[in-house]
Amino acid sequence: MTYLMALDEGTTSCRTIIFDADCNIVSVAQHEFAQHFPHPGWVEHDAEEIWTTQRRTMTEALEQAGLAAGDIVSIGITNQRETVVLWDRRTGRPVYNAIVWQDRRTADLIGRFDTPAHRELVRSRTGLLLDPYFCASKIHWLLEEVDGLRADAEAGHIAFGTIDCWLLWNLTGGAVHCTDVSNACRTLLFDLHRGRWDEELLELFGIPAGMLPEVRPTSCDFGATDASLLGEPVHIGGMIGDQQSALFGQACVEPGMAKTTYGTGCFLLMNTGDVAITSEHNMLTTVAWQLDGQDPTYALEGSVFMGGASIQWLRDGLKLIHDAPAVNELAGSVPDSGGVVLVPAFAGLGAPYWDPFARGAILGLTRGSTDAHVARATLEGIACQVCDLLAAMEGDSGVPLTELRVDGGAAASDLLMQIQSDMLDRPVLRPQVLETTALGAAFMAGLAAGVYGSLSDISGHWHQEHRFEAGMAADERAARMARWSRAVTRARGWMQEDDDAAQ
Ligand code: ADP
Repeated sequence: MTYLMALDEGTTSCRTIIFDADCNIVSVAQHEFAQHFPHPGWVEHDAEEIWTTQRRTMTEALEQAGLAAGDIVSIGITNQRETVVLWDRRTGRPVYNAIVWQDRRTADLIGRFDTPAHRELVRSRTGLLLDPYFCASKIHWLLEEVDGLRADAEAGHIAFGTIDCWLLWNLTGGAVHCTDVSNACRTLLFDLHRGRWDEELLELFGIPAGMLPEVRPTSCDFGATDASLLGEPVHIGGMIGDQQSALFGQACVEPGMAKTTYGTGCFLLMNTGDVAITSEHNMLTTVAWQLDGQDPTYALEGSVFMGGASIQWLRDGLKLIHDAPAVNELAGSVPDSGGVVLVPAFAGLGAPYWDPFARGAILGLTRGSTDAHVARATLEGIACQVCDLLAAMEGDSGVPLTELRVDGGAAASDLLMQIQSDMLDRPVLRPQVLETTALGAAFMAGLAAGVYGSLSDISGHWHQEHRFEAGMAADERAARMARWSRAVTRARGWMQEDDDAAQ
C-alpha cells in the first residue's frame, strides 16, 4: 500500500491526516494550540508550540494507523496563510511570537504606505490590497519594535517564513529555508507575474532580501525530514496555502471551476488557468498552485468574514439554538424568511464591498416575524454573500460558473446548500471527502512522488456525495436578490454615519 501524510496546520489546531492512494482517510490526529491576545486586535501564536504540536500529531497519526515512517511515500503541508514567523538562523529559535493573519496591530502603520501610487504598485505586482492582513507590514513592525532585530536581519542572521516555511525548516532539522509560490504570493512582497520577490516592494517596506526564503513550486522536492524525527527520513513533496489547497482537494483543476469553503467565514476561489486576472471588483488575484516544471495556475479569491460564524451568533448571541446543526430544523420549519433579511456585517463587510464601517442588520421585521424567520434569514444571508462574490468573479473572469463545489463545517447543512443552489441558480456539489484542505496537500505530495501521474488522476479521485439542484423561479430569485441588495445598502457605512453625527 502507498500512503501520503498531510500536515494541516490551521489557525487553532494542528492536524495530521494519513491518506491511502485512493484518498481514503487512514488516521487523523489533532491538537489545539494556544491563542494569545496581548492587546485588543493583536493575535499571536507561539511558533515553537505550533511545531511541537504538529510533530506530536505526526507521531500519533502513524501510531493510530499502525504505520512506520517508511510506509509514507511523501508529506504535504497546508497551512494558515499570511502568519509571520521570524527566527534566528543561528539558534533556530523564533525572535518573537508568530503574528497571525487576523492581527490588526499594523492598521495604522499600513496607513503610512497608503498613497494612490503604492496602492497601484501593490495591486499590479501582488494582486492583493494594501492591508495589514498580509505579511509585509507585520515584518516591518517586528523589525522596528524588536530590539536589535534590524541589525541582525541586515547581517543575515534572521529568517522570515510563513508557517509552511517554518514547519519545513524544523522538519528538515534547519537544512531547508524555502516556501512555495502559493504562500509567497500572500506576503505583499512577491511579484505574481514574474514569480519572484520584488525589490521595489522590499524597499518600500524596508525588508532585507536576505531574510526571505527561496520560493519553489507547490509540488516538487522540498527535501526530507531529519532522520531523528520519525526514525527514518521521509520525502516532503508539497506545500500549499489552505484555501488554494481546498481548491485543489476539490479537484477544481480546469479554468472556471470554483469552490466555496463554509467555515467561520466563507472563501470562494475560482481557477482562472494560466491568466492572473486583475479584478475590477475587489477580488484578490493569487497563485493557486504550480506543479514542478510547469507554469503557475492562478485563481481569483473572495472572502466574507461571517459564514458559519453567523450561525454561532444565533447560538451564542441570540440563544435561538443550542448547537449549530439545530439551525436547520428551526430554519426549515418555515417555507421562507417571511420577508426578513439579515445582513451578517457583524465585523464589517469583506469582498466585494470591503466596508469596515458596515454593521449587521435585520430588516423587514413585522408582527408575524419569528425566531424561525430570523434563522432562515441567517442562512439566506450567508448564501447571498456568496452570490455577491460569485457575481463579482464572473464579472472579472468573463467565465460563467457552471457549478459550485462546497466544503467546510457549514456545508454539512442540506438546507443552506439548497438555498445556495436556489439563489445561484446553479448546482451545488458536495464531495464525499470533506477534508479537502488536507487532501489538496496530499495530492501535491503524491504528484511530486509519482503516486499520481497527472491532473486527470486527481479529478478521478473526486467523488460527489450530494448534488443540490436549483429549484427557484427566476422572478422569485431576482426579487430576493434585489431585497438583499437594498438591505446591504442600508447596512453599509453605519459606523461612519455614527461618527458624522457626533461631529
Ligand atoms: P473553521 O475551519 O473556520 O473553524 P469549520 O469548517 O470547522 O470552521 O466550520 C465551522 C462552522 O460550521 C461553524 O461556524 C458552525 O456554525 C458551522 N456548522 C457546523 N455544523 C453545522 C451544521 N450541521 N449546520 C450548519 N452549520 C454548521
